[in-house]
Amino acid sequence: MDQVVAIRPPARGIPRAGAQNLRDLDPADLAAWLAQHSPEPPPRHRADQLFRWLHQRRAPDFAVMSDLPAGERTRLAGLASLARLHLDAVLRSHDGTRKLRLRTAEGAALESVLIPNEDRGYTQCVSSQIGCALTCRFCATASLGFQRNLATWEIVDQVYQAQDLLEREAIAEGAEYPGRITNLVFMGMGEPLHNYNQVKRAVQLLTHAHGAAIAGRRITISSSGLVPAIERFARDELALEVGLAISLNATTDAVRDEVMPINTRWKIAELLAAVRQVPQHRRRFITFEYVLLADVNDSDDDTRRLLDLVGDMRCQVNVIPFNPHPHAPYRRPSSTRVQRFVHRCRALGLLVYLRTPRGDDIGAACGQLALESGNA
Ligand code: SAH
Repeated sequence: MDQVVAIRPPARGIPRAGAQNLRDLDPADLAAWLAQHSPEPPPRHRADQLFRWLHQRRAPDFAVMSDLPAGERTRLAGLASLARLHLDAVLRSHDGTRKLRLRTAEGAALESVLIPNEDRGYTQCVSSQIGCALTCRFCATASLGFQRNLATWEIVDQVYQAQDLLEREAIAEGAEYPGRITNLVFMGMGEPLHNYNQVKRAVQLLTHAHGAAIAGRRITISSSGLVPAIERFARDELALEVGLAISLNATTDAVRDEVMPINTRWKIAELLAAVRQVPQHRRRFITFEYVLLADVNDSDDDTRRLLDLVGDMRCQVNVIPFNPHPHAPYRRPSSTRVQRFVHRCRALGLLVYLRTPRGDDIGAACGQLALESGNA
């Protein structure tokens, strides 16, 4: 593992505190904001122009927006914020995975993980909160406690910072094309459905045809099982656009109560009833994640109960062998045991994928995001 520390100068021309960050707004909201803040009606295409600068070209400031009149650029720079996150470290794994550590304006740190796909694209694992309010006992992020929700622009900017990084790398390596982020999973720090509105808006911005244009079918939101929020998702147009993953992680309430205390609030049966309300996509299945913990949830009986719980649904199960870290009292099962669990599930007719840990040498694998190098 080698560490690259990228130090950037702070953004120039910071407007007064509390100014609207224009990176938060879709074209319609940008048009409304411009109308409100212009002495005379702005040209009709101005909002779309701005949106493309911010989301397609990831403009650092107004100064580069060459097709806007110079006076207008200066005026807007005094009114609105274009603040971005600050990238302060990139950790590289031997398997090509990179963990980005980003800082917010107040200096809090968050992590985002970039995982190479087989097709030269990348899957990015984004954070939705700083810390997490849930207390899943196998997850390192839980040890941070909850600090705050991320704003829409802070979610979106994780993707843009990662894309900027890929472009800098391509230039440094003399590569013809930079890597491209094609898939997103909301499986970083935090519970995305606890930050529903901002996550939804971030999806709208990231999928916009005049922005990063990431395909909705390549985006997955992962939840620990907040039943009311899953019911809301099921009724929302968002459910037609992106996939849902549920961290199931146990086949009995007794075990799930212990490993995921959220289960003491909403039991497995209630959780699955809510998941059944989510409309089925034509090409997409619900995903259940199942972190395999030695002698806790990895028995043959668990495979049978798993079939009873989800066997009637169009779903896939992602088995994730536990990634150890100092905050959890669990062990990863032996590879024979992992294989046995997966084979038995398949023999019972479940669609199961075994997830090999990515970036575990840099603390970037599932459940390891806890800022080992210290939060501010
Ligand atoms: N809060 C959301 C998203 C973050 S967790 C959720 O719970 O789904 C993303 C995935 O990592 C979850 O499926 C979780 O079960 C898994 N995970 C957490 N800690 C882990 C660990 N130590 N080893 C392996 N997977 C883990």
